[in-house]
Amino acid sequence: MNLLDSRTVMGDLGWIAYPKNGWEEIGEVDENYAPIHTYQVCKVMEQNQNNWLLTSWISNEGASRIFIELKFTLRDCNSLPGGLGTCKETFNMYYFESDDEDGRNIRENQYIKIDTIAADESFTELDLGDRVMKLNTEVRDVGPLTKKGFYLAFQDVGACIALVSVRVYYKKCPSVIRNLARFPDTITGADSSQLLEVSGVCVNHSVTDEAPKMHCSAEGEWLVPIGKCLCKAGYEEKNNTCQAPSPVSSVKKGKITKNSISLSWQEPDRPNGIILEYEIKYFEKDQETSYTIIKSKETAITADGLKPGSAYVFQIRARTAAGYGGFSRRFEFETSPVLAASSDQSQIPIIVVSVTVGVILLAVVIGFLLSGSCCDHGCGWASSLRAVAYPSLIWRCGYSKAKQDPEEEKMHFHNGHIKLPGVRTYIDPHTYEDPNQAVHEFAKEIEASCITIERVIGAGEFGEVCSGRLKLQGKREFPVAIKTLKVGYTEKQRRDFLGEASIMGQFDHPNIIHLEGVVTKSKPVMIVTEYMENGSLDTFLKKNDGQFTVIQLVGMLRGIASGMKYLSDMGYVHRDLAARNILINSNLVCKVSDFGLSRVLEDDPEAAYTTRGGKIPIRWTAPEAIAFRKFTSASDVWSYGIVMWEVMSYGERPYWEMTNQDVIKAVEEGYRLPSPMDCPAALYQLMLDCWQKDRNSRPKFDEIVSMLDKLIRNPSSLKTLVNASSRVSNLLVEHSPVGSGAYRSVGEWLEAIKMGRYTEIFMENGYSSMDSVAQVTLEDLRRLGVTLVGHQKKIMNSLQEMKVQLVNGMVPL
Ligand code: AMP
Repeated sequence: MNLLDSRTVMGDLGWIAYPKNGWEEIGEVDENYAPIHTYQVCKVMEQNQNNWLLTSWISNEGASRIFIELKFTLRDCNSLPGGLGTCKETFNMYYFESDDEDGRNIRENQYIKIDTIAADESFTELDLGDRVMKLNTEVRDVGPLTKKGFYLAFQDVGACIALVSVRVYYKKCPSVIRNLARFPDTITGADSSQLLEVSGVCVNHSVTDEAPKMHCSAEGEWLVPIGKCLCKAGYEEKNNTCQAPSPVSSVKKGKITKNSISLSWQEPDRPNGIILEYEIKYFEKDQETSYTIIKSKETAITADGLKPGSAYVFQIRARTAAGYGGFSRRFEFETSPVLAASSDQSQIPIIVVSVTVGVILLAVVIGFLLSGSCCDHGCGWASSLRAVAYPSLIWRCGYSKAKQDPEEEKMHFHNGHIKLPGVRTYIDPHTYEDPNQAVHEFAKEIEASCITIERVIGAGEFGEVCSGRLKLQGKREFPVAIKTLKVGYTEKQRRDFLGEASIMGQFDHPNIIHLEGVVTKSKPVMIVTEYMENGSLDTFLKKNDGQFTVIQLVGMLRGIASGMKYLSDMGYVHRDLAARNILINSNLVCKVSDFGLSRVLEDDPEAAYTTRGGKIPIRWTAPEAIAFRKFTSASDVWSYGIVMWEVMSYGERPYWEMTNQDVIKAVEEGYRLPSPMDCPAALYQLMLDCWQKDRNSRPKFDEIVSMLDKLIRNPSSLKTLVNASSRVSNLLVEHSPVGSGAYRSVGEWLEAIKMGRYTEIFMENGYSSMDSVAQVTLEDLRRLGVTLVGHQKKIMNSLQEMKVQLVNGMVPL
């Protein structure tokens, strides 16, 4: 955002030069007769020059760091034979802050120097003759500014300068919508390394899932998106907004008996997506606190177990992939009275007719189904005939309901308490007798005609991985990755291949690769997922060695940890977490991928057979999982520590070329990977915590996420790097938990040295284990607020005494 651009000011700039014979404005105009505000001075032959040019007052518009871009030409002193003694090739730039325009008459010595400006390119007379003007551009920044505005001043001390333009601006992160949250225009912070944490506001019709935040860098870039908003029930995400499927409007009663009411209804006018199921809520009139919910994939249900002669209220809503729409208005129907037993019998002829008609319609439907597949009719064949004949089958381009479960799910509620457990957990597809049922339970069937394959991007165990595009009805075409199952597969291979989709389809998280659907009705069998432009993380990092800021790397790690927290909350243990199994998109968002059953480890080239016969990626796997197959979220945390190491070392191979056997032995003996180069101490400490032998002592994924968030919020905490001298490549580090023999907790230790008053501060700042305390430096103590020198000495001496340097006794293997 420009605060001043001398090139665009049409009238007088209002700048003041003194002495009067110093800087002078050249009264030139451009081709549009607009003034060009060029100031020049060239007193190279005269001694003791001190020529000042003062700008008018410039408002900083709330910015606390501003940038000044100068464009100027400067004469080379060597081209001035007579003036060599006095000629200068630099000038000085100053500023003076003031809240208003009264500051103009201040003395020169009150101005604060910004810098001495030298030319990268000076010009000689010869250049001038050839009209080759070497225009220099120099940018300086100033901050933190504390007042409302400022003046700039340019001091010449005897150079030959033409100041062609002055542009003053500040940087901001422009308003943006990310993850359904709106982030406002944000002026960057005062400190050049500062990241401002900015909270997003959920767009209309969406609600917070995890508080959405982003970080505005000093360069005006948004970094490290965290959290997200989700469209409210019934609203669907489209182009960063949410629109709802309209409510069901027409509900008709069908057969009514003394204990049951049958209903049918029409699909909402504007489904805004594919309707996955309907939810029917009903309760006895005036008894709303006790209600029943039936979920049905069909557009008709029968509510039974009702009281005779009673009025019941029904409301229906539709669910699309985005969630539930609004409930319909209330529809009230009454069961038959108990005395009217004969009325049931009176309906027998109707039932007979209904059944007959039903059978005929069913025959028509089956006839249709046998006469050709949906694909035969092409994409977009939305058969109203089928919908009429069998309204529960929803046919449209894109997804066809692969499974029409006739069984409805019924739940009873009383005073808002559900009687079925509602916590979502991961369901192992193995628990399904028929694996096809599992895949269609969790994955949507996509018609092959809706997919365009563009190019091969990788090779998977079961066939090629391609990039391409998916066009679903009512949606814009978007890029996807397509995994194909090669021809000639066995039934087991097909099952294993689709197993990944059955797992992936159960997850919905911004850091887990998103499944679009599967193609199983035609060949080749395919799994379609979101497209990740930068491919797998290990290759991407190797290709971009050293190219990212620490904050960007921590942002990647935060994303992976957040995805893993989601998986562990779902009760899913990944078992093969490694950078090669993380995908990264063009926004540097990392997503966990490679889900599978037994095949995960079967097709990982890193996985090796252990003595017990299983295949395990040794370098990434926790010792207890190698030794006795104890795979848990805690063993995933160990692997996460290795991923941290891979990320911070830009894709280096963990344990380099050591053999798997040597790795197992070294880890068992307590050796750990040393810190990657230039790694912040706090991150290396977190890695060591993940590699605790006792799996219960390792941090949980939610703790890792909070810890990384904390580091992102305080980038200065990442400035302390692991001491270069304690970091030795190709050596492993003996991992000896600090003070393990002496003190069990930080509190215990601080109490023992009568410094217990600092326990809370230590804990709040992430020094919660004796291991982490080992990293504390004097500077850290000061930052923590331990300002009394006596206390600092006491703590540092105690650490020294305990010989707590974590990284000690390095032993080459
Ligand atoms: P996989 O069989 O899942 O290990 O995939 C093999 C390779 O295909 C990966 O290493 C990636 O380079 C690439 N790949 C897989 N899935 C995607 C995706 N969703 N987006 C981009 N590339 C992918």
